[in-house]
Amino acid sequence: MLKLEHLSKVYRGGKKAVDDLNIEIEKGEFVAFIGTSGSGKTTALRMINRMIEPTKGKITINGEDVTNKNPVTLRRSIGYVIQQIGLMPHMTIRDNITLVPKLLKWDKDKKNKAAEELIELVNLPESYLDMYPAQLSGGQQQRIGVLRALAANQDLILMDEPFGALDPITRDTLQDLMKDLQQRLGKTVVFVTHDMDEAIKLADRICIMHDGQVVQYDTPDNILSNPANQFVKEFIGSHRLVQEKPSAKIVDDVMITPITISLEKSLDDAIRTMVQKRVDTLFVVDGQNKLKGFLSVENITSERHRTSSVADAMEKDVFYVMNGTRLQDSVRRILRRNLKNIPVVDANHRLVGLITRAHIVDIVYDTIWGDEQIENLPEEI
Ligand code: ADP
Ligand code: MG
Repeated sequence: MLKLEHLSKVYRGGKKAVDDLNIEIEKGEFVAFIGTSGSGKTTALRMINRMIEPTKGKITINGEDVTNKNPVTLRRSIGYVIQQIGLMPHMTIRDNITLVPKLLKWDKDKKNKAAEELIELVNLPESYLDMYPAQLSGGQQQRIGVLRALAANQDLILMDEPFGALDPITRDTLQDLMKDLQQRLGKTVVFVTHDMDEAIKLADRICIMHDGQVVQYDTPDNILSNPANQFVKEFIGSHRLVQEKPSAKIVDDVMITPITISLEKSLDDAIRTMVQKRVDTLFVVDGQNKLKGFLSVENITSERHRTSSVADAMEKDVFYVMNGTRLQDSVRRILRRNLKNIPVVDANHRLVGLITRAHIVDIVYDTIWGDEQIENLPEEI
């Protein structure tokens, strides 16, 4: 179904990330790319849907050279999942499952049918489709996340460490579900992982990479019984592989400067600041810039009749993340609690930045569309 021939990628600056990759993947096969960090797994995966253009070599899908296809059409015909991100809290389960079909402009009946078929596959009642994520247990929500990856009915699905950020028990459950669905639906999956246990559990064949080259491509059994060389032996032997952090970005990389107001100010001051800075939320800090609470337009409207002080009117129950937190984790928190934004504090609880919902939208888009040019995106989501 998928054939990679003499596939190479040399990045600007001369880094040979993938070096003469030759493999074939059958229809309905589950193939895991595994290797140390920097061995070229992500680059190889992203060349398949042309998110990265190969320097050399050929990729054919069902005999068709992908370079002859329109990259956007190609990308939409291939599923791509980077990691299991949270569901959108303000959308029903139905809308969450059919996020990608909606971008693909499927009609309503087709979307509904897909959602109904999928929810049945994970043994959840159809009535759940009209519920919101918060009404489901954490485990049920994760299952819906996996369904979303399958909803657009693409035959080929590329997954780059999708479960890497999950705790071991959840990961194990979702691996089982993924494998089960892949087999039942006959999907072809190319799956990047760092974890040999995961590769052995899921894959029909494992492609072990090192320095951009394939060291061994074979079934788990054959690799375990006949490791091609010392490198593979060590790789199998190193039981506790360090889990790669799929998104190494931390909140500090993207946070912006929040608009603040100090504790002893009045609500009139707050309104003036909001108008002047064109924001609907102010973060309340003390003399040492320590985060004390926040004040939203809604707070002011509802509290103004009884107080004129910021300290009195502010919402003290404020969710925050520490600097150095992985962006992915703060995304989960924002999605789970349906927050507009989330302040970042340092070890002394001083306010140092703000992560906004716009950042999250970026991450969601990146998950679904990768590096696709923005002008190619459909107008509505
Ligand atoms: P893996 O997914 O196995 O960790 P990658 O495919 O991400 O590996 O990277 C392979 C090699 O290519 C690494 O040495 C990495 O630093 C380098 N690399 C990845 N992306 C780029 C880029 N955009 N520009 C230059 N070098 C890159
Ligand atoms: Mg990678």
